[in-house]
Amino acid sequence: MSTVSTEPARITHLIGGRLWDGTSERTSEVFNPASGDVTGRLDLASADLVGEVVGTARTAWDAWANTSLAKRTQVLFAFRELLNVRKQEIAALITAEHGKVLDDALGEVTRGLEVAEFACGIPQLLKGGFTENASTNVDVYSLRQPLGVVAVISPFNFPAMVPLWFIPIAIACGNAVVLKPSEKDPSAAVAVARLWTEAGLPDGVMNVVHGDKEAVDALLTHPDVKAVSFVGSTPIARYVYETATAHGKRVQALGGAKNHMLVLPDADLDLAADAAINAGFGSAGERCMAISALVAVDSIADELVEKITDRMRKLRTGDGTRGCDMGPLVTVAHRDKVAGYVEAGVGAGATLVVDGRKDEFDGGDQGFWLGPTLFDNVAPQMSIYQDEIFGPVLSVVRVKSYEEGLNLINANPYGNGTAIFTNDGGAARRFQNQVEVGMVGINVPIPVPVSYYSFGGWKDSLFGDTHAHGMDGVHFYTRGKVVTSRWLDPSHGGLNLGFPRND
Ligand code: NAD
Repeated sequence: MSTVSTEPARITHLIGGRLWDGTSERTSEVFNPASGDVTGRLDLASADLVGEVVGTARTAWDAWANTSLAKRTQVLFAFRELLNVRKQEIAALITAEHGKVLDDALGEVTRGLEVAEFACGIPQLLKGGFTENASTNVDVYSLRQPLGVVAVISPFNFPAMVPLWFIPIAIACGNAVVLKPSEKDPSAAVAVARLWTEAGLPDGVMNVVHGDKEAVDALLTHPDVKAVSFVGSTPIARYVYETATAHGKRVQALGGAKNHMLVLPDADLDLAADAAINAGFGSAGERCMAISALVAVDSIADELVEKITDRMRKLRTGDGTRGCDMGPLVTVAHRDKVAGYVEAGVGAGATLVVDGRKDEFDGGDQGFWLGPTLFDNVAPQMSIYQDEIFGPVLSVVRVKSYEEGLNLINANPYGNGTAIFTNDGGAARRFQNQVEVGMVGINVPIPVPVSYYSFGGWKDSLFGDTHAHGMDGVHFYTRGKVVTSRWLDPSHGGLNLGFPRND
C-alpha cells in the first residue's frame, strides 16, 4: 500500500483584494494540532512588504472615507450575509489549525457575526449632535470622521472572532484595515477577509499581512498607521501599547487574564459545577475568558470538587471533527509548557485530583494532547495560581468567606473576567460593585458582552482606555469634530478680539 503525502498548502498575504504572488524570504509552519501534521507553510512579511501593504490601504482609504453611509451599509449587510452562509467553512478552518472542537469553532464565528450585525447600524451609530442657537444665530454640531489606515493584530485563540471584534466597525466607520493574524492559525482570518471583496468592498480597504515581530514592529511604527487594535498576551500587549503610542498612534491593547469564579455557600452547586467545567475546559482552556481559578468557600468546597470530578470523568478529548468535548492544545511547545505547570503544581504541594496527562485521546498519536486537569488546595503563591496557564488546568482555591474571595480577586494583577455563583441577589450586587474586573458574570461563567456593549478588562488585561466593539469601537475608529457655525442675518458682526461668549 502506498502512502499519500500531502504537501503543506501555501498560505499568503491578501493585498489589495488579491493573494500575494511574490516569493517570501521567510516562512513558518502551520500544524493540525490533532494529528501533529504540518498542513501549511505561511509567508512571513518583511518590513518593506508591510510598508507596501500600508501604502495600498492608504490609497484605497481616500475613496472609502468619502463613500456614502448608504453604500457602506450595503457592503456591511452583504458581508454579514456571506459570513452567515460560509460560517461552517470558516469553523472547519479554525478546527483544522487551532484544534478547538467544531461546535465551539462555530460558536466563535457566530459571536463575530454579531459584531458585523452591530456594524450594519452604522448610520445610526455615527449620528452626531446638533444644537440650534447655542448663541445668538450660532449653531453647534458634532461629527465623527474616520482615522485612515488602522492595524489589527490578533492572537491564535480566536482566529476569526477577534479580528471580527474590530474590522466590521473599523470599515463601517470609513477606515482601511491591515490585519496581522496569528501565525499559528492564519487561514480562517484570510477566508473571512476574502468575503469583503465578494461583498463589494473596494480593493485595498481590507488587507491581511502575515508575519511575526518584524511585521508587527513595522505596523507599530509606520507613520500612515493611525490606530492599533491588539489582542494577545500581557507582555506583548504592553510592548505594543508603549511602542505604538510612542509613535503617535491611538492604541487599544488587550492582554492576558486569570479569571476567578467565586462560589458562595448558597449557590446552586450543580449549576456551578457545570459552569466550572464549561468555562475551565472549553476550547482546552485557551480562552481569555476561561475560568482558571475556582474560589470556593470552605463549607461547600468538598461537595463542589466532587461534583466537578464526576463530570470530568465523562469528558472526551480528541480530534475536534469527531464530536469530542475538548480538542488538543495549539502547538506542541504550548502543550509541553502547560504540562510543565501540572508538574510544578504537584511539586508545590497542590492536590492533583484529576491528571489530564494520563487521559486517552481520540486523535493522532502525534497530536498535541493534554486532558482536563483539576487541582485542589491551591495556594496563591503557587505558579499554577499566579501565571496565566492558558490550558485545561483548573485550580481550586479554598477561602473562608466572601471577603477573602473578593480580596484575592482584587489583588490579582489581571482583571479581564470574573463570575460569582450565588442565589443571594444582595451578595451578587455587592460583588458587581466591589470587584475590580472589567467583565462580571452573575451565575454566568463566561460573561463575554454582546456586540452592542464593549469587551475589555481592567489592570494588566488592557492597555489603553477603549474597549472592543459596541460604542467604544465606534469611538476608537473615529475622531470627533465639533463645528460652531454662524450664518449672519445679513449684517457684518464687527471686530471683537475678546474670548467668544455665548449671549
Ligand atoms: P501572543 O501575545 O503570543 O500573540 C499575539 C499577537 O502578537 C500575534 O499576532 C503574534 O504574532 C504577535 N506577537 C507575538 N510575539 C510578538 C513580539 N515579540 N513582538 C510583536 N508581536 C508579537 O498571544 P497568543 O499566544 O497568540 O494568544 C494568547 C494570549 O492572548 C493569552 O494571553 C490570552 O489571554 C490573550 N487574549 C486576550 C484576549 C482579551 O480580550 N483580553 C482575547 C484573546 C486572547
